[in-house]
Amino acid sequence: MNHHPLAVLFAGKRLLRSESPLPGHVFNELVRLQLLKAIPCLQAKGSHYLCGRCGNEDLSLFGSHPCARCKATTCTYCRNCIQLGKMSSCQFLYEWQGELPPFPFVKKSLHWQGQLSSGQKRAADAVVEAVKMPKEVLIWAVCGAGKTEIMFHGLEEAFKRGFRVLLATPRTDVVKELYPRLQKSFPHIIITALYGGSKDRHSFAQLIVATTHQAMRFYEAFDVVIVDEVDAFPFSYDKSLQFAVEHAKKQTASTIYLSATPSTVLRKTPNLEVVKIPKRFHGHPLPVPQLTWIGNWQKQVKKNTLPRKLLIWFETMISSKKTVLLFVPSVSYLSTISSLLKANSIPHKTVHANDPNRHEAVASFRKQLFPVMVTTTILERGVTFPNVQVAVLGAENDVFTESALVQIAGRVGRSATHASGDVVFFHYGTTIAMKSARRHILQMNEEGRGL
Ligand SMILES: [Zn+2]
Ligand SMILES: [Zn+2]
Repeated sequence: MNHHPLAVLFAGKRLLRSESPLPGHVFNELVRLQLLKAIPCLQAKGSHYLCGRCGNEDLSLFGSHPCARCKATTCTYCRNCIQLGKMSSCQFLYEWQGELPPFPFVKKSLHWQGQLSSGQKRAADAVVEAVKMPKEVLIWAVCGAGKTEIMFHGLEEAFKRGFRVLLATPRTDVVKELYPRLQKSFPHIIITALYGGSKDRHSFAQLIVATTHQAMRFYEAFDVVIVDEVDAFPFSYDKSLQFAVEHAKKQTASTIYLSATPSTVLRKTPNLEVVKIPKRFHGHPLPVPQLTWIGNWQKQVKKNTLPRKLLIWFETMISSKKTVLLFVPSVSYLSTISSLLKANSIPHKTVHANDPNRHEAVASFRKQLFPVMVTTTILERGVTFPNVQVAVLGAENDVFTESALVQIAGRVGRSATHASGDVVFFHYGTTIAMKSARRHILQMNEEGRGL
């Protein structure tokens, strides 16, 4: 098969002209040869627009301004996906029209020696089947079930068939954690990691590990799409990310959803096969949250005291040399709680989503350089710390949904050597979410017992 040497730059993507690394005259020549097709960025739909990259149709998420390029006084653009480059009514996305180089058929791509647990094996077989079919499957695996390993045989099956695969996950941290593990397990497959600020955007990789945002650049590119943490913010709330995943798939493609806490809507999707792994890879049950009433803690904090029960718990943990993740409802509590911990001589650090020192703080906590990390829900999932215990202060707050609480509890007891530990929801009034989270965990343990 003959393909143009520049095909790989565009393969499977729809790119703005500004995203192309080619000099202007080369780009124009490709358009003239009709190797690149121009598609308007915004499609006019009666009185409103549809963004061709993120699917936005919401009038309030479009802006307009006088435009130097098209000289119009009101040129409209999409604000919803602007972080990927401006989609304006006078601009185009470019799609490759010529032949694409095929991927090799790699018989044995998986270089991983580990063993799957019986639960992992069942799910892994379902993923392999989904790759062969193609079909849609949800792997509902408890926190600590070993999701990555569950994917391995399905990925090998895909590479055997010369398939291109997208693994999309909502968080940059997870992309960064998965990428080296996948590289090590599939050393001869070309893999690219894409997230805001990543390099290497134009390599023609067979496996792409990307944040769900970055997946928006792809169009009918993948034979297999794996959507990790399908319930996690922002994926579950953001229609445009679902639009992106749908667009990125080829017309016949397999979709594999991974979640520890799938929403009821997802679970009940027609034609979606659900495979449940109620047991952790090490076989021990999930730690069950303890609900502890502490009264009006906000008032106590205002008076510069920490709830007594929380303090006693901290002392027990620290004296037995355990590390603790303390979740608080929002960034606004971090500094107050921090000064109160300081007053009680408890060594700690704080972390939140926009913290510039976040990665360093997380790394030093992982090395157990200090006993307490105070955090927002940013560390609720996708992170593993050895022998950590967790507490939630103000578990009654709305941010602590059932799925958030299940994920938080799921940080504890993840390794075979430290398979149990404390999970305490310190609260001022039990909520449905707290009770449901506890019930969810007990139920999974019950189902796991029989296996
Ligand atoms: Zn858009
Ligand atoms: Zn314009």
